[in-house]
Amino acid sequence: MHRDTRILQAGYEPIERPGAFVGGPQFSATYTTPGSPSDHHLLYGRFQNPTWTAWEAALAELEGGAAVAFASGMAAIAAVFGVCLRPRDIVVLPSDCYYTTRMLASSWLASVGIEVRLAPTRGNQQAGALDGARLLWLETPANPQLDVCDIRLLADAAHTRGALVAVDNTTATAYLQQPLALGADYVVASDTKALTGHADLVLGHVASATPERVEAIRAWRTQHGAIPGPMETWLAHRSVATLPLRLQQQCASALAIAKMLASRSVVREVLYPGLEDHPGHEIAKRQMHAFGCVVSFDLVSQERADAFLTSSKLIRQATSFGSVHSTAERRARWGGDAVSEGFIRLSAGCESTQDLLDDIESALDQAS
Ligand code: PLP
Repeated sequence: MHRDTRILQAGYEPIERPGAFVGGPQFSATYTTPGSPSDHHLLYGRFQNPTWTAWEAALAELEGGAAVAFASGMAAIAAVFGVCLRPRDIVVLPSDCYYTTRMLASSWLASVGIEVRLAPTRGNQQAGALDGARLLWLETPANPQLDVCDIRLLADAAHTRGALVAVDNTTATAYLQQPLALGADYVVASDTKALTGHADLVLGHVASATPERVEAIRAWRTQHGAIPGPMETWLAHRSVATLPLRLQQQCASALAIAKMLASRSVVREVLYPGLEDHPGHEIAKRQMHAFGCVVSFDLVSQERADAFLTSSKLIRQATSFGSVHSTAERRARWGGDAVSEGFIRLSAGCESTQDLLDDIESALDQAS
């Protein structure tokens, strides 16, 4: 059976079973449980929820390993840090990964005596920082500069030195890239982004192919309480049915946009792993099914970037990415990333590719 068909079916009742075609969200905070807790599989709303179970089955299909859903991508990241790292351990992070991940490491991990080493994603440079490390953290493509590293190569290098490997797969999504099959011990993602794709919820997950690791992550969630809401979980499961369709359209538009941007003199640099001159293009071709919906580019100055953003009639100015509606933002407005004042991160939505190209071309004319 084609993978897209399996994704569509994942977490739904088997077709031969009579009953509701689509179950609704299960809101129960507790369950009627007389006698011994061991006689029941549903006990309390922080421990289990049937809506999570269905969503986690869909995630497992996507990731190729069991999954644990969390209230946000950061809750999922904190769980992997919490389960893997102890005082005096060393974690190797990408110096260009999502800003809040670096913040969490430099504030909380460093304060309990965990050494945080930073090295760039580009050129697999994290391999040079592995001596004595307990955890190698990868993010590929890295947000927002979209550098790419070789997951299999780095996972092998880390395992040889006795380190665990976790991959933040948010930008790619499990549909386009499956880090567990490439040797990662954990994969995490913000499901707020393209995986659910409607900008209407905040969620995350951790997946692993090793049952003991999954159980430790699940115990962390139960004890720390970073549980997803049933309504968000149900919406997420509903949204993932269209994931292949959405991403096929979004990736095709992103590639067309990147090529068009590269032809315009007002654009200093276009960063998109699907472009043949991107430094990580060959790796991305090997380990991704397509190159994602995010395109970053540099308009050099804040004035030009603002002129571009305010001139667009289709692209909403918003942080985050992956939605069916195209969005873009001037990344330097936040601080924290090594990008120029004119650096824009654009996320291609499901609008017609030609409409997006026309809109972006005319906004670039205004910015020139
Ligand atoms: N990882 C990456 C690569 C992200 O871009 C984000 C959010 O932008 C996160 C993790 C955090 O996810 P959330 O906002 O769902 O907590």
